[in-house]
Amino acid sequence: MRLDLRHLNKSYDANRVIDDMTVDFGELRSLALIGPSGGGKSTLLRIIAGLVAPDSGDIALNGEQLRFNEPALRAHRRQLGVVFQAYNLFPHLSALTNITLPLEKVHGLAPAAAAELARETLRRFALADHAHKKPAELSGGQKQRVAIARAIAIKPRLLLFDEPTSALDPEMTAEVLDVIEELKNEGRDFLLVTHEMGFARHVADRVAFLAQGRIIEHAPAEELFANPQSQECRDFLARILRH
Ligand code: ADP
Ligand code: MG
Repeated sequence: MRLDLRHLNKSYDANRVIDDMTVDFGELRSLALIGPSGGGKSTLLRIIAGLVAPDSGDIALNGEQLRFNEPALRAHRRQLGVVFQAYNLFPHLSALTNITLPLEKVHGLAPAAAAELARETLRRFALADHAHKKPAELSGGQKQRVAIARAIAIKPRLLLFDEPTSALDPEMTAEVLDVIEELKNEGRDFLLVTHEMGFARHVADRVAFLAQGRIIEHAPAEELFANPQSQECRDFLARILRH
């Protein structure tokens, strides 16, 4: 993918959350966004996902300008798979229906085709036996795998992950990170907000450090972790890697 941001701004009241962000990441397969809490990572991901409109500025994805009108946004969102920290599954629906519902309502599949695709995707993530269960009957790792299955069922060109493991214990985290790595090996493009530094280093082509609404620096993963250029990024990594 190519991702190009020009003078992007977003404020909530007096709080400037994305601050004149301009960056051209060039051609990449996988980008990890790291940085302190409150720095604007989720907001940036939501803007790229077409879920939040910026106040001003431009975003081009694969050379195509993102337009913030409803028909264009609907088309844009259909090409993406988004996975959030808190799973965002419908609590009253089974795992299977959580996947089939958007396939039918958003992507226009017939019920039988949606069910077949959903079952196939659940099988792939070893969730076939859990298809009938509601989210409350699933472990955190299983819920997140259902959320990932939902995001990839339509084979999106780009996957967006916002701290997909931060609500999980270490074993469940490993389970979900394995799935993400598998998707990478399959050739999916993705953008991942994470505080799993080891994983970011291992799985991302490029890592961007975001703080106070700005991309302070970005570089190939090895380079950024081995030799961060800014004091802010050095301090952040030192703080995080101490734990
Ligand atoms: P990060 O993901 O890096 O922790 P966020 O993008 O979630 O950062 O938040 C950046 C700032 O924007 C925070 O100060 C947060 O409180 C604020 N913010 C995010 N979303 C909203 C919202 N919907 N309404 C008001 N403030 C928000
Ligand atoms: Mg966040």
